[in-house]
Amino acid sequence: MADATQAAGLPELLAARPAFSMHAQDGLCFEGVALNAIADAHGTPVWVYGAASMRARYRALTAALDAHGLDVHVHYAVKANDHLAVLNIFRALGAGADVVSLGEFMRTQRAGIAAADVVYSGVGKAPAELAEAISAGIGQINVESAEELDMISAIAGQMGRTAQVVLRMNPDVDAGTHEKITTGLADNKFGIAAQDIPYLYARAARLPGIRPVGIALHIGSQILSTEPYAQAYAKAAAMVCKLRDTGLEVTVLDLGGGLGIGYGDEPGMPLAAFASTVHREVGDLGVQLLLEPGRYLVGPAGMLLSSVILEKRAGERRFIVLDAAMNDLMRPALYEAWHGILPLGAAQMQSPLSPADVVGPVCESADCFAKDRPMPPMGPGSRVAILDAGAYGAVMSSTYNARPRAAAVLVDDGRFQLITPRQTIDELWADEVIPGAGEE
Ligand SMILES: *Cc1c(COP(=O)(O)O)cnc(C)c1O
Repeated sequence: MADATQAAGLPELLAARPAFSMHAQDGLCFEGVALNAIADAHGTPVWVYGAASMRARYRALTAALDAHGLDVHVHYAVKANDHLAVLNIFRALGAGADVVSLGEFMRTQRAGIAAADVVYSGVGKAPAELAEAISAGIGQINVESAEELDMISAIAGQMGRTAQVVLRMNPDVDAGTHEKITTGLADNKFGIAAQDIPYLYARAARLPGIRPVGIALHIGSQILSTEPYAQAYAKAAAMVCKLRDTGLEVTVLDLGGGLGIGYGDEPGMPLAAFASTVHREVGDLGVQLLLEPGRYLVGPAGMLLSSVILEKRAGERRFIVLDAAMNDLMRPALYEAWHGILPLGAAQMQSPLSPADVVGPVCESADCFAKDRPMPPMGPGSRVAILDAGAYGAVMSSTYNARPRAAAVLVDDGRFQLITPRQTIDELWADEVIPGAGEE
């Protein structure tokens, strides 16, 4: 991550996040609720999500697009955070959804999002998944290969249905993000090369069971500059014109997601500049525009609260060992991601800082949330908030090291409510079978 992020100190992290405040008595508060009260009630580690933050981020994004008179339908990317309570918040705001599996699609259905408002993306959709989604009336399938086009045609044709499809174009643009989250380069596994789109689109128009309606692209995640979008959207606009020139009908352009957030004290994707880029590159195509943001809507609206088990000294090094670990929040281990970490105590915000490695108890060296991070003294039982963990947090968690899944809490309107109880130890093996056991 950028140097600016790594330089962000505790006061800067706090100042950049208006939903947070520090109170002398209650300690760190979020959306008006004392985080210590949540930890007291439900223990740690615990995910905390803020409904007001999610709504505010959604409204800021749609307002920026509205300001340019753009008609963009937002399809929340479910994989960022698939909790039903989160889906319900975006459904109530009028969002559709972008899903990448049948499981995610069924979650949207459980949350009451209309099937027609759901877009199905992904490089490997299984025939059984496609059949279920088509039979439920899914709104759009984003096709990633010629092979998949034939597969969808056969499945929908057999069912006597017509699936609306768009072709996902790989624009061969470098999103300037981490290599594990860039998706729009020619050698990534995603999408269809631009030169193959015209004949595949024409073929799709003749195949039974499908109706091609447009183009999709998604160039990566955690994108902080409008430049890669400008390049990719210009290529998409050119493709729309090219297809229309050959008499093909194009009514949808799906702009993907990827809008980045500030993990330090920088602001993240500037919405006004993004909206202006959309307006400039694709604003006058006369197509229905779709946007698939995930991280932008939920990342800063969530955190992982954790307690310090102990501070360990090993020679010169200082380790703060938390009760949260890489099985809960995998991003630092997987992407070397930087997350801000704030103490919950007001006194700790004033204390002298010294470098520490903030780690979890899992038996892997990768189980490290922060290296050489200036931190105050953190005695056993003191607590921290690992910030900006609302996206790609709980959804990636596992029970590695037989660690039960953390609880989750939703803050709304000055109150908090448990939305996922902490998994119990018994539940870890509740569905496991020992062959032969109980047969004697
Ligand atoms: C992951 C993904 C998104 C969401 O990405 P964010 O970076 O969370 O906005 C959108 N569209 C597709 C196709 C995706 O795979």
